[in-house]
Amino acid sequence: MDPETNAGPLPACIEKSPAMLRVAPNLLDHAATCAAFRWDDARQQLAGLPAGGLNIAHEAVDRHLGTPREARTAIRWISKTGAHRDLSYGELARASNRFANALRSLDVQAGERVFVLMGRLPELYIAVLGALKARCVVTPLFSAFGPEPIATRAEMADARVLVTTPELYQRKVRGLRERLPGLKHVIVVGEPPAGEPEASGVQGWQALVEPASEAFAIEATDPESLALLHFTSGTTGRPKGAMHVHGAVLAHAVTGRYALDLHDDDIYWCTADPGWVTGTSYGIIAPLVCGVTSVVVEAEFDAQTWYAVLERERVSVWYTAPTAIRMMMKLGAAAVRGYDLRSLRFLASVGEPLNPEAVVWGLEAFGLPFHDNWWQTETGGIMIANLAAMPIRPGSMGRPLPGITAAIVRRRSPAEGGGIEVINAPDATGELALRTPWPSMMRGYLHEEERYRQCFVNGWYLSGDLARRDADGYFWFVGRCDDVIKSAGHLIGPFEVESALIEHPAVAEAGVIGIPDPTVGEVVKAYVALKPGFEPGEALQRELLGHARKRLGAAVAPKEIAFRANLPKTRSGKIMRRLLKARELGLPEGDLSTLESDER
Ligand code: ATP
Ligand code: MG
Repeated sequence: MDPETNAGPLPACIEKSPAMLRVAPNLLDHAATCAAFRWDDARQQLAGLPAGGLNIAHEAVDRHLGTPREARTAIRWISKTGAHRDLSYGELARASNRFANALRSLDVQAGERVFVLMGRLPELYIAVLGALKARCVVTPLFSAFGPEPIATRAEMADARVLVTTPELYQRKVRGLRERLPGLKHVIVVGEPPAGEPEASGVQGWQALVEPASEAFAIEATDPESLALLHFTSGTTGRPKGAMHVHGAVLAHAVTGRYALDLHDDDIYWCTADPGWVTGTSYGIIAPLVCGVTSVVVEAEFDAQTWYAVLERERVSVWYTAPTAIRMMMKLGAAAVRGYDLRSLRFLASVGEPLNPEAVVWGLEAFGLPFHDNWWQTETGGIMIANLAAMPIRPGSMGRPLPGITAAIVRRRSPAEGGGIEVINAPDATGELALRTPWPSMMRGYLHEEERYRQCFVNGWYLSGDLARRDADGYFWFVGRCDDVIKSAGHLIGPFEVESALIEHPAVAEAGVIGIPDPTVGEVVKAYVALKPGFEPGEALQRELLGHARKRLGAAVAPKEIAFRANLPKTRSGKIMRRLLKARELGLPEGDLSTLESDER
């Protein structure tokens, strides 16, 4: 125990107890599992369309018809007021057929863009699946987006249809219609707003979708045809539109099994908003493809509400994000005690580096560790994970999924002949790269051909993240290439410094940046949000600086600490370090379309 912080040393490895393990024993050997894996074999899990090809919605829903899954609850929706609505796989198949027929009746063509802008309502899931059946390209947006981010994305992608609620339409979209001449149809869940002229193309769900036929045959779908257009989180700059194809569903099926441990009888809850790729790939597609019951919760984060959902719905697999975990940690493990959470079996996290402290807190609060995993909007699915079938290394993203080859690489300068060099030595820091191709790899950045091309070198996709790989093949996140701090010859990853600060009992969250310095290049500055009961002040500042120096050494520890009520975050919950830095240096703040919390 460290007498100053009361923190014990964090375990380097968490072995699985038999209660946590449901995977087949033959998967416990990671190297052997990967060596034996073939995408072509995995393809056998999917059905393929009767008309030919592969369609995400068919694999997610229609494939289960005529099997015992048809009657199983596919989506259990819980409204803000606690009301329930269950949709079985059979009902979801018919409802999405109606939506696909409604698009047909509007003469919406395959390949045209259908935007979805609403909170987590059952109609959102129906619309996404129906639009995929009609072979339209789907873009879900955060319902909390303001008019400007909606307009720029809809303009960029030439949105043809928008599905939203009457309230969101009136508040955010109506005023944009002149800017969006290509937006021909707006389908509102409920009644169209009064006085809406017919020419505006606004129609009510009840009148348009409900009467449509519940029979729909999905036409042949080329696995290479576009299915989803997802905008990135905008953490490092202007969001990019990553384009994904129907064939990606194979990766959703495989990663749902290996990384999220989904089994037939699971009750699964992904807390991500569908406006973020996690909320689509793992909030809609993967759980349905794996045939489990998904809990969909309309309400936003609130620890007590969440614990109540876990208890009441008997959730077994829970996929969430570091920002939510840190908020729960802020309230303490004692807050979990009153709930019976024995149904939980598997916890996973994505979106940001998960501090080792948080992995271990899972054990304290839920009796289960969090499984961190890494991927990006661009990769379409989980690429690296603390897999179900292996011990967890807290602070590590885990090992590559079967079918995925990851490496640490260094970009060579033009003077060195260009290209990249794969670094095989363990523990070297470099850029995280993935060997192409894999089924859910993006097929382009919308209207940014050159930027897309630059992501690929010599058969590798370069992620823009820095990491290192240890001797056992676990990957450790160091930082975004843009965020890494160079100080007196050291390369400092913000994550390492943030994790050390979070170990201190007063710290709820930390964001770390480099500030230009004439002597050492950059010095480390930390922004810290405190847990309830702690007051910012000079004494605490000194204590935190001392704590960080002890943990990290003087060369890496921050030189300066500033307190903030909150850190600026994207809507997907990522700390926007570039904004902290721009403000610190008095530079332009850049694209803030995805900025969520920003209490200084
Ligand atoms: P933008 O590309 O617009 O700047 P973004 O990269 O945050 O935004 P996403 O695609 O949502 O958009 O996020 C992917 C990134 O999130 C990864 O490149 C990585 O930096 C970070 N990330 C995701 N999961 C993890 C993880 N488990 N550990 C560390 N970092 C993670
Ligand atoms: Mg990115």
